[in-house]
Amino acid sequence: MQNVLEEALAIGRRYIAQGECASYIPELARADKNSLGVCVITRSMDRYAAGDTKTRFTIQSISKVISLVIALQHCGFDRVFEKMNMEPSGDAFNSLLKLDMASDKPFNPMINAGAITTAGYLVSEVSFDDMLKYARKVCMDDGIVMDQKVYESEMANCARNRAIAYLLQSKGILESDVEKSLDLYIRMCSLSVTAESLAGLGIVLATGGRHPETGVRLVDAEAVRIVKTIMLTCGMYDGSGEFAVRVGIPSKSGVGGGILAVAEKRMGIGIYGPALDAKGNSIAGCRMLEYLSKTLNLHMFAAET
Ligand code: GLN
Repeated sequence: MQNVLEEALAIGRRYIAQGECASYIPELARADKNSLGVCVITRSMDRYAAGDTKTRFTIQSISKVISLVIALQHCGFDRVFEKMNMEPSGDAFNSLLKLDMASDKPFNPMINAGAITTAGYLVSEVSFDDMLKYARKVCMDDGIVMDQKVYESEMANCARNRAIAYLLQSKGILESDVEKSLDLYIRMCSLSVTAESLAGLGIVLATGGRHPETGVRLVDAEAVRIVKTIMLTCGMYDGSGEFAVRVGIPSKSGVGGGILAVAEKRMGIGIYGPALDAKGNSIAGCRMLEYLSKTLNLHMFAAET
């Protein structure tokens, strides 16, 4: 496994030059574009790591998975999907287009419109502090904190998300206070994780929501099924279809450079590579996952061997 990860890293590095760090949140542009790391945690809790797997970076959109789990557990399926669909949008993560033109509801919880809607459900139900504690638990990482600099940087540059939030309010979808919902959404995006923490969350989801060692249930089984399915169809934004063909592992990316990948019943994979492709996915990360999927036979529709 260690050799496979080192090889994945070498393959990924070839693509870094073609990507760029996100800069629309100025603080993210300060990341080292050449950082790259991959961590695998297996169901027996064997941990393999190559490259920059202990570097802290912000979780960004991967927090949408955690917030959706919390919302499903607190509000239930019917309430969560009363004002939100579960279809891929085919548009950029921060698009307003279809929300205004084609649909009254956000397409899914993995794009910003959906995640701000989710934050709206949660703002009166759960404190940010409790959400942070839950993130530490499901990632099995007590070191997760909110990155104040990234939070402030995004808050100072969130006109687009604010526009989405007010559009949601105008359509009667976001019923909670707009600014409070936006604030909770951006706080969750600012959680600092590592490739290891993402692999930790990955193995919890891969094994049905229980702590792999203690067997303690961390995530409701039904919520696990729902988030993995939505990750498969919508987790990589408008790159989700091609990613499903090439990689075939339910995954979620963030513009901080992280990817969470959940290889069913086998392993959690966490990636850090802040150079992004045009769709906002880690450019090297996608190539590394494609390699891992082929080499370890992780595609969910892999041919029998
Ligand atoms: N905080 C980011 C935003 O709202 C998250 C987006 C992402 O990771 N794709 O724009």
